[in-house]
Amino acid sequence: MKVLEVKNLRKRYQDIEVIKDVSFEVNEGETLVILGASGSGKSTILRCINNLEKIDSGNIIVNNETMVKEYKKDKPIYNTKEVLKKINLSIGMVFQDFNLFPHLSVKENVTHSLLHVLKMDKKEAEQRALDLLQKMGLEDKANAYPCNLSGGQKQRVSIARCLAINPKIICMDEPTSALDPELVGEVLKTIKQLAEEKRTMIIVTHEIKFAEEVADRVIFMDDGVIVEQGKPEEVIKNPKNKRTQEFLKRYVEVKEVNLEKLDISKEEPKEVLKFFKEVSEIPRESGNEEGIKNYLVNFAKKRKLKVYEDTNYNVIIEKEAVEGCEAKEPIALQAHTDMICEKTENSTHNFEKDPIILYKDGKYVTADGTTLGADNGIGVAQILAILDNKEMKFPKIEAIFTVQEETTMIGAKEIDLSKLESKKIISLDGGREGKILVGSANCLEWRAKIQKEYQEVPKKYEQYELVYSNFKGGHSGGNIGDTRRGNPIKLGIEILKNIKDVYIKEIYGGSRVNVIPRDFTVTFFMKKDNLKKVNKMIEEQKNFYGDVNIEILPKKENTKAFSREVTTQIIGFISNYENGAIEYENGNVILSCNMAAIREDEANIYIEYSTRANNMKLRNEYLERLEKLVKKYELKIIWSQELKGVEQDIHNSLITKCNHIYQKMYQKELEKMMTQGVVEGGFFSDKIKDLEYVCIGPNTEDVHSPNERLSIPSLQRTWEYLKNVIES
Ligand code: ADP
Ligand code: MG
Repeated sequence: MKVLEVKNLRKRYQDIEVIKDVSFEVNEGETLVILGASGSGKSTILRCINNLEKIDSGNIIVNNETMVKEYKKDKPIYNTKEVLKKINLSIGMVFQDFNLFPHLSVKENVTHSLLHVLKMDKKEAEQRALDLLQKMGLEDKANAYPCNLSGGQKQRVSIARCLAINPKIICMDEPTSALDPELVGEVLKTIKQLAEEKRTMIIVTHEIKFAEEVADRVIFMDDGVIVEQGKPEEVIKNPKNKRTQEFLKRYVEVKEVNLEKLDISKEEPKEVLKFFKEVSEIPRESGNEEGIKNYLVNFAKKRKLKVYEDTNYNVIIEKEAVEGCEAKEPIALQAHTDMICEKTENSTHNFEKDPIILYKDGKYVTADGTTLGADNGIGVAQILAILDNKEMKFPKIEAIFTVQEETTMIGAKEIDLSKLESKKIISLDGGREGKILVGSANCLEWRAKIQKEYQEVPKKYEQYELVYSNFKGGHSGGNIGDTRRGNPIKLGIEILKNIKDVYIKEIYGGSRVNVIPRDFTVTFFMKKDNLKKVNKMIEEQKNFYGDVNIEILPKKENTKAFSREVTTQIIGFISNYENGAIEYENGNVILSCNMAAIREDEANIYIEYSTRANNMKLRNEYLERLEKLVKKYELKIIWSQELKGVEQDIHNSLITKCNHIYQKMYQKELEKMMTQGVVEGGFFSDKIKDLEYVCIGPNTEDVHSPNERLSIPSLQRTWEYLKNVIES
C-alpha cells in the first residue's frame, strides 16, 4: 500500500532550481534510502515532505491527503490547516544534529509533542515516553538533560521523540553524520531494528554498507534529479549510471585507506592470532584442503604429537595430558578447515593461490575485499593454540579437523572416530558469544506421490491460472520460523479448498528441498461465479504477505483435467498437512516441515518435503500423524535421505560445566540455542554413543560475504572462556 507519493516535485531557491521534477513513491513497511553527493537535493526533498519548505510545483500525497490543494496561475495553494496537521502527524523527522530542546529533560523532550500537539493525558504520555526510552536502551536517562548525553544517546532520544507520535513515515536526514565514529554503530543498530519492525522510512545516509543492509529500495540523486533507483543489490553493487558509479567508488576507496594490516605483535590473544595469520595464508576453499592438511600434519610432527590423516584430508592430532592431569577425562576439540570463497567485484584475489592478508578495521579483523575465513579458521587457530600451550593444566586433547563442511559435509560424514577416547566434543565452529549451540535438527527429506488420472470436465466450468510469485523464500532450516514468508503452494491450495468445486489441471512450484518455495502456479477449472470470492481471498493474502504477486488469469478453455479423486487427493493432503514451524521450545523452532516443491512427470505428481526435528519423540509423533493422512488420501511416501541431528540431554555434564564457567566469569546465563539446520555434530553423534557436544565461538559478522569480520574483543573473551572450560 502506498503511503507517500511525491509527484513531479520542483523546488527553487531564488533562481536556482534544486529539485527538478522528482517523482517517487513509498509503500507501507518499506525502507527507502536516498543516496547522493552533497548538494544534490536530498535534504530539500525531506524538508518538502515535512512541510518545512514550500514546493514550487508538483504535489506530495501522504496517506491519500494532498499537501497542495490546487494551482492558481501556476502558484501552489496549500491545503487546509486540518489536512496539513494530519499530514504533519503522519510524518516524523530525525535530524542530523538531533534538534533536542536543551532546557527539557530526555523524558520531556519525548512527551513534548504528545502533550502540546496531541493533547494527550500526562500520565499516558509519560508512560509512552518511558516505553520508548526503554526500547532505545535509555530508560536510565529519562531525567537527564541532553547536554549530559553522548551524541549516540542524543540521537536515540531524538528517534524516541519521533516515534512518540507514532508517525506513518519516519524521515531521517543523515542521522549519524554528526556522531563520532565509535558512536555510529549504536544508532545504526536502532534504525535497523525499526526497519526489521517494518516501519516505513526514508533515510538519507552516507553509510553505504548500512544502506545496503536496510534498504528495500535505493534512490540515487544527482543535481536535483533521480538518476538511478532500484534494489540495493542493483544500485549499490551494480550501478548503471556513471555518476552513481563515481560516487560509490569514492566510498570504496575511503574504506581501503582506513584499513591497516593487522599487526599481531600488538593484538591479543597473540597466541591465537599468530596461528590465524598462518592458516589464512593457506588457500583452502572447500574441496581444496590438501595444503591446510599438510600444514596441520607438519605442525603436529614438529611438536612430536601423534597425527592421523585420511584420504579426504581430515586430520586428527592427539596431545597427551599435562603432567598431573592424566586422571582428567580427555576432551575433543573440532573445527573445519575449509572456507567459503567470496569476493567483491573489484577484488583481484585468486583463491587458489593467494594468501588472505589480515587487516584491522577498528576492533575487527577483516580481509580486503574477500571472505575472511574466520568461519572456521579462527576455530582451527584456537585449537592449534591449545595444542601449543605449555602453561595450562589441560587433560588429553583430541583435535579433529574436518573438510568440506561448507559443501558436502563429507569430512564429518566419513571421518573415522572409532579410536577417539573422548565422549565430549567442543566444536569451535560458529555460535555467538554468550550463546552455546546444544542441539541441531534431524532432517528428513521425502516426497509424497500421487498417481495421475484424467477426466473430461463437465460443461459450465471455466479454466483459470492462479499464479504466485515473488515470495521471500529462505532456508528451510534458518527461516522457517518467520511466518510472514508464507508458503505459496499452501496458500494457493487454500483458495482452491475454499471454492470446493474445482478440477486441477496442472500444478507446479518451488525449487530445492531445503528452500522455502517462492512461487507456485496451478491451472484449474471452476464455475465463473466463484471469481469474486477468489479475488477477495487473493486480496487478503496479498495484504498479509506484503510485497508479493498473486494473480488469477482466465485461460483458453480445454476440457481435460485431473479426475475429481486426484484433485481431492492433492487439495486434501496439502491443506490438512502441517507446514512451517510446528513446535517451539524457549523461542527456538524444534519441529518444522517445509513443503518445498510440487512437480509432475508423465505419470505422477510429487510433493517434496523436508522435515526437521530437534527431538525424536516429537518427530515420531509427527510421522504417525503423517501416516494417518497418507492413508486417508491414499498417497505413497518416498524417503530420500536422513541427515542426523544432535539430540542430547541439555543438562548433561559438558553443557552444565560450560554454563557454570560462563556464569562464574561473566555473571550471566549462557543462552542455549538449538538450530533447525544440520551441523557436523549430527554425524559425530551417530558415531559416538552418548556423545556430549557443544558449539562455541566468538562473534563474527557477515560470514560468507566479503564483509566478513571477526570481533577482536569477543575473541579475547571467548578464548579465555575456552581455556577455562578445557582446564576444568
Ligand atoms: P543535500 O541534502 O543533498 O546535501 P540540499 O538539499 O541540502 O542537498 O541542497 C540542495 C541544493 O540547494 C544545494 O545546492 C544547496 O546549496 C541549495 N540550498 C539548500 N538550502 C538552501 C537555501 N535555504 N537557500 C538557498 N539555497 C539552498
Ligand atoms: Mg543534506
